[in-house]
Amino acid sequence: MSANNIASPELMEKLVSLCKRRGLIFQSSEIYGGFNGFWDYGPYGVRMKRALENLWWKNMVDCRMDVEGLDSTIICHPKVWKASGHIEQFSDLMCDCKDCKTRHRVDQMPDQTVCTNCKSTNLTEQREFNLMMKTYVGPVFDEDHIAYLRAESCQPIFLNFQQVRIATRQKLPFGIAQIGKAFRNEINPRNFTFRSREFTQMEMEYFCYEETSMETWEYWKNERIRFYREKLNFTDDMMRIHEHEKLAHYAKAAVDIEVKFPFGWGELEGIHHRGTWDIARHQEFSGADLEYVDENGKRTIPTVVETSVGLDRTFLAVLCNSYYEEEAATQKEGKETDVRVVLRLPATIAPVQVAVLPISKKLSENAQKLYQDLAGSYRCEYDVTGSIGKRYRRQDEIGTPFCVTFDFDSLEDNAVTIRNRDTMAQVRVNTTQLKAYFAEHLEG
Ligand code: ATP
Repeated sequence: MSANNIASPELMEKLVSLCKRRGLIFQSSEIYGGFNGFWDYGPYGVRMKRALENLWWKNMVDCRMDVEGLDSTIICHPKVWKASGHIEQFSDLMCDCKDCKTRHRVDQMPDQTVCTNCKSTNLTEQREFNLMMKTYVGPVFDEDHIAYLRAESCQPIFLNFQQVRIATRQKLPFGIAQIGKAFRNEINPRNFTFRSREFTQMEMEYFCYEETSMETWEYWKNERIRFYREKLNFTDDMMRIHEHEKLAHYAKAAVDIEVKFPFGWGELEGIHHRGTWDIARHQEFSGADLEYVDENGKRTIPTVVETSVGLDRTFLAVLCNSYYEEEAATQKEGKETDVRVVLRLPATIAPVQVAVLPISKKLSENAQKLYQDLAGSYRCEYDVTGSIGKRYRRQDEIGTPFCVTFDFDSLEDNAVTIRNRDTMAQVRVNTTQLKAYFAEHLEG
């Protein structure tokens, strides 16, 4: 693979192994044999995950006057899920193979009469399987104390609509955004983190008048595609819009933004026109007044346009899009070139943005000062072990856009060498100019 090839089937295996080796993503509870559908983000993974969250939040909340933030609980009143329809309808059809005992999600079976694992046709009847995860709240473990881990992060946004509006004095149209965990008892978790049982969603519910809601929906669709193009470097050939064939009864329009993964096209984000369903249902079930009253006293149930994206899927899509293997010169004995694995991550989300690499341990004191100076502004790493070539390769594999080498000349000329991940070109820059250099190259 001299260039990135997202469609290559072996890419997934390579990524899973890279993620483990370099501390991006680990299987949850690995020492107990793992736990299907659960993943932990390691030291570099958590840095990149937070950077992705921050990038989304900056674009969706901080840089906008019409969107407010929220951080609500994972468990809320059980009635919420009755009102939202999740208890009745949030299910997938499943069936079991009576021979090999594999459980299938029916819509994922190419032939619904044949087990994909052992090819048997001895299958159980298809039945509904609710994806909500249950727990008990309070000291009594009975039906009356069942609560649910939220299956989507957006419901508490609707519950807080009126409070947020009053506290912020927003007028229609405006949005409320939230980043948080969601839980689904997926029948068949698979494709690494793509389908997990615990995952993070980044959702924004935009409240507007019915008359302008289709324009709003179009606007957000374009806005989100622009985000992927401009902020995450997704090209048009790796993204496509998938129109929903079957709309929810309350919805006017719905599309998914899909991206190319090594296992095929997969949904990354949904842009949904949800009508007045959510607010109307919570008003009905709670008895609270959730209507919007304008300056003239006219009452309206707001119409909702939603943008809903999985953070873990975004992380995975960025990894797939950034992975490159290429021939590069090496100093290894008996070899002129070697395969260089490099993650060409956007600099704004790379786990390490600047690696400070002193050429000798004797330079540690000065190099550490330099590290401390930069670490307040950027995600930095200090590494003094191993040959400089090996240290560069290690940084390439975690996608570090810039390595700064501090050498003996640095003590004299107060300058360091900056090595660019993508071009491998090196420039000498005075340390007094470093912050300006990185401000230009790292701030998105
Ligand atoms: P799918 O059809 O893939 O099951 P969905 O249509 O049920 O997804 P939504 O309910 O619209 O998904 O959720 C919004 C976003 O949350 C999805 O676009 C996806 O990025 C993310 N998401 C949903 N389910 C999972 C999951 N099991 N693991 C990781 N991310 C998920």
